[in-house]
Amino acid sequence: MRSFVKLMAGAAILVSMHSATMAANLVVGVSWSNFQEERWKTDEAAIKKALTAAGAKYISADAQSSAAKQLTDVESLISQGANALIVLAQDSSAIGPAVEKAAAEGIPVVGYDRLIENPAAFYITFDNKEVGRLQAQGVFKAKPEGNYVFIKGSSSDPNADFLFAGQMEVLKAAIDGGKIKNVGEAYTDGWKPENAQKNMEQFLTKNNNKVDAVVASNDGTAGGAIAALDAQGLAGSVPVSGQDADKAALNRVALGTQTVSVWKDSRELGKNAAEIALALAGGKKLTEIKGVQTFEGGPKKVKMQSVFLKPQAITKDNLNVVIEAGWISKAEACQGV
Ligand code: BGC
Repeated sequence: MRSFVKLMAGAAILVSMHSATMAANLVVGVSWSNFQEERWKTDEAAIKKALTAAGAKYISADAQSSAAKQLTDVESLISQGANALIVLAQDSSAIGPAVEKAAAEGIPVVGYDRLIENPAAFYITFDNKEVGRLQAQGVFKAKPEGNYVFIKGSSSDPNADFLFAGQMEVLKAAIDGGKIKNVGEAYTDGWKPENAQKNMEQFLTKNNNKVDAVVASNDGTAGGAIAALDAQGLAGSVPVSGQDADKAALNRVALGTQTVSVWKDSRELGKNAAEIALALAGGKKLTEIKGVQTFEGGPKKVKMQSVFLKPQAITKDNLNVVIEAGWISKAEACQGV
């Protein structure tokens, strides 16, 4: 028995040495859509840290918001020897051929944060419908009736529709009952704050400034919407949502011009994605990943292996959560309060 235990312990050491050596030889290529939002640098740092800890190598490319560039970026990561890919898709449909190419070469692909609806890809994200619910709940609590505007995300990002679906789940009864009126709804091209601001300006003009609440889909677009409200002297009196717990947004929450942000600890998402990419590159199957679940809620209802992390709403009342988690300092969050 003793020698069996010894043998097993030896085998365990061998296995861990083996996987460490294997990870040490692995290269993970990360294809970023852009670094427009503050969060992606945090995601990147977390991925790098986890890969370095495992002795693997990080290589990357920034598509600078171009779906076409992202295709050549992925090819270039493959030709640089990537054993696994992590892809934040600029355009969930346009990225298809790159995923097919990787799959044909036996290179696993992890769809990062945004759905790439292809059964060859793994999908790791936060529960985006839940993010949408938290956004709507935050605004609804502050303004349970009146004229609502919806500043949606980019139409080439499936998250935009997941968020909107979650928002609608929360608000449907009040809309159907006539308490809430949808007086403006638009996608935000490229998630750009300036486009959100333009859309918001148009909705304000169209409704003679009679807008009571704004459900904005992330902190960048919330910033654009708030700038438009501010120009009409309405910032602070109209509730606005967001997500990402960007520093500027958390400060707006403290100051009262933004009602709610949704915190998604991207340090966790990055770490998990890196570990999954290494496991897949080391020969694990999509179904063997810890915490994996089947997701088929995409537009094409493709069955995907996925991992979902949990988001958390942040309002003035629980700002301490992000401060205590070391996400932001108290001084930064509460500047000017
Ligand atoms: C992400 C958000 C982000 C947005 C713009 C979405 O897919 O889930 O966190 O703010 O893209 O980059």
